[in-house]
Amino acid sequence: MLDTYLDYNATAPLRDGVRRAMIDAMGPPANPSSVHGYGQRARLMVEDARASIARRVGSMPEEIIFTSGGTEANAMALRQPCSAMAISGIEHAAVLESAPSAHHLPVDAAGVVDLTALDDWLGQQPRGAGVAIMAANNETGVIQPMAEIAGITARHGAWLHCDAVQGLGKMPLDFSTMGVSSLALSGHKIGGPTGVGALVLKEGMPAHPLSRGGGQEKNRRPGTENLIGIIGFGVAAMLADPEVFEAHCRPLQQQLEHRLGVEAPDAVIFGQAARRLANTTSIAMPGRLAETQVMALDLAGVAISAGAACSSGKVRSSHVLEAMGAGDLAASAIRISSGWDTTANDIDRLAEAWLRLYKQGSSFNPID
Ligand code: PLP
Repeated sequence: MLDTYLDYNATAPLRDGVRRAMIDAMGPPANPSSVHGYGQRARLMVEDARASIARRVGSMPEEIIFTSGGTEANAMALRQPCSAMAISGIEHAAVLESAPSAHHLPVDAAGVVDLTALDDWLGQQPRGAGVAIMAANNETGVIQPMAEIAGITARHGAWLHCDAVQGLGKMPLDFSTMGVSSLALSGHKIGGPTGVGALVLKEGMPAHPLSRGGGQEKNRRPGTENLIGIIGFGVAAMLADPEVFEAHCRPLQQQLEHRLGVEAPDAVIFGQAARRLANTTSIAMPGRLAETQVMALDLAGVAISAGAACSSGKVRSSHVLEAMGAGDLAASAIRISSGWDTTANDIDRLAEAWLRLYKQGSSFNPID
């Protein structure tokens, strides 16, 4: 068992309260569509979870549609009809792959979407275009100016989808005032289980499910509900207070970045000039491949990620850092992401192991 887990953006540890609620609910037959007592009890639990998630994101409960995770929620949102589609160049694969022919909007060196480019592109499209931009980036933590983006899309009569998987529980989200048509959410980034998420969809907008079947979720997403997962997601949403998260993680981020900035002056922290999530640091050690750093830290008992996603166990070069103009440095970037259980000791342990590698100089497994 690893002692120091600093990969919350990949998946967060299950919270104790979530585990207890899920275990308590396991056992009795529980199909929320059944009319007997078992079914009614299950239905109440689903609706409690829906209300909890709605409170967390400032939506109406009826606007929450449960899905199998953030990936499905994004895919459903992007099936919304549109005259043309644009996404930012730093979206998660769940968005990139669901909109393969979308126009890619550039970001600046800090990782913030170019609002002029968005305005110009929309100006050249017929009304009814679609735009997808994430609330906060999974690799860098950079937060996008959603209010300004929503102002621009509204002026051009476009709908706006926001992948808020990394934003949930880490920054305030208010669906009722954000000006977006839909939000994608995921349970496992906030201490809930994997395999459950939600699409928050503006009242009155039709849903576009990926499969066909029963009339669950008010005919918007077929399939018997993942009751245990939904219960866990509901409890996790209740516990995922962004103010508490900010107060806990921001000082740790400052501690880490200050120390690495002083002791490793040529290391580069991405997105530092932008607003970022309190828990995420994307940092490149020039001359060291990300994999080398990840493995060295793993040996030292610290779990982090390479800057790029490694969904198949293989690290690919990061399209996010490339879009920010990081060039060759992208191959040397790691992602450190903390959370509610992270302590100052964890940060020290990471910093010491990483600085040991840094101080070994470029003779240690340099990039050719
Ligand atoms: N969107 C972002 C920004 C993510 O970080 C992730 C997970 O890595 C997803 C979507 C996909 O969510 P899920 O793992 O629940 O399918």
